[in-house]
Amino acid sequence: GLPKIYFVTPTYPRREQAAELTRLGQTLMHVPDIHWIVADDNRSCNAMVVKLLKKFGIPFTHIASPMPEVYRKASIVPRGVANRRAALNWIRKHAEKGVIYFGDDDNTFDLRLFEEIRDTKKVSMFPVGLIGDYAVSSPVLKEGKVVGFFDSWPSKRKFPVDMAGFAVNVEFLLTHPNATMPYKAGYEEDHFLRSLGLTLEDIEPKADSCTQVFVWHTQTSKREPPTIKIGSQLDTSLKD
Ligand code: UDP
Ligand code: MN
Repeated sequence: GLPKIYFVTPTYPRREQAAELTRLGQTLMHVPDIHWIVADDNRSCNAMVVKLLKKFGIPFTHIASPMPEVYRKASIVPRGVANRRAALNWIRKHAEKGVIYFGDDDNTFDLRLFEEIRDTKKVSMFPVGLIGDYAVSSPVLKEGKVVGFFDSWPSKRKFPVDMAGFAVNVEFLLTHPNATMPYKAGYEEDHFLRSLGLTLEDIEPKADSCTQVFVWHTQTSKREPPTIKIGSQLDTSLKD
């Protein structure tokens, strides 16, 4: 068969979660040979999420790994790190030959992305739309090779890319047993890719030499659930 795509989705409980996972699950239903690793930022696997995941008919693994309290209190929270790390551990133990991709629950995926990343030998990279202050973040190519990056927040990173902008071959990951993601907001991608010993020459550009956008860093507007006040005007009017 085709090399599997291990699609890693960090997720956490909030009112928008079921909507996000439904949209994402219905995208992944169109993708052959995929294994969805849903990594819950939670002390245990959320029953609502399990119920939802079973409906798609996609092979999945649901794991729970909560963000340590110290980071939750930080001024800039490193989102989705504990759970992505747990997914990496799972992959190291269980994955067959294939490719890992970090797909957040709120992003938007063109089905062509999956065809592009499936044959990743080490690390492939491609543009991400709607990210930061620019319309796009992308590797910059010269004569078919990655020579630099275009990103609105370079911030001294060696690999200024978004989590959605690269895929990693499983065997390549296994050759770097110490590769990990740091609890350092903004630097998760860069440190992870550095910990893979990656060089610019290793990078396989995808999406028609990085001229096409097949993934967007869309964001859902969030709000706190309202407090329903018992005995408020609204309540009274409903009584009669
Ligand atoms: N996430 C998480 N725990 C959190 C906040 C976010 O697991 O406390 C997940 C979230 O579901 C998403 C990813 O981490 O899949 C990135 O978070 P978010 O989309 O909020 O960040 P941004 O889009 O700003 O990078
Ligand atoms: Mn997001």
